[in-house]
Amino acid sequence: MVESKFVKPKFKKRGFVKIKCKDCSNEQYVFYRVSSNVTCNVCGSTLAKPTGGSLETNGEVIEE
Ligand SMILES: [Zn+2]
Repeated sequence: MVESKFVKPKFKKRGFVKIKCKDCSNEQYVFYRVSSNVTCNVCGSTLAKPTGGSLETNGEVIEE
């Protein structure tokens, strides 16, 4: 199983980012101060994970 590359997107002050799932193209808003892994509401794939007070994502960031 290939480990996806997680990147840390830039965020505006609203604190939410819209992320597109790389597996099923579902789009959902994620609060960037997450404390646990964020999974896709449709397919259950990991969209983002917490790191140092914000998140990293392996999905496509649509809105920042
Ligand atoms: Zn998905």
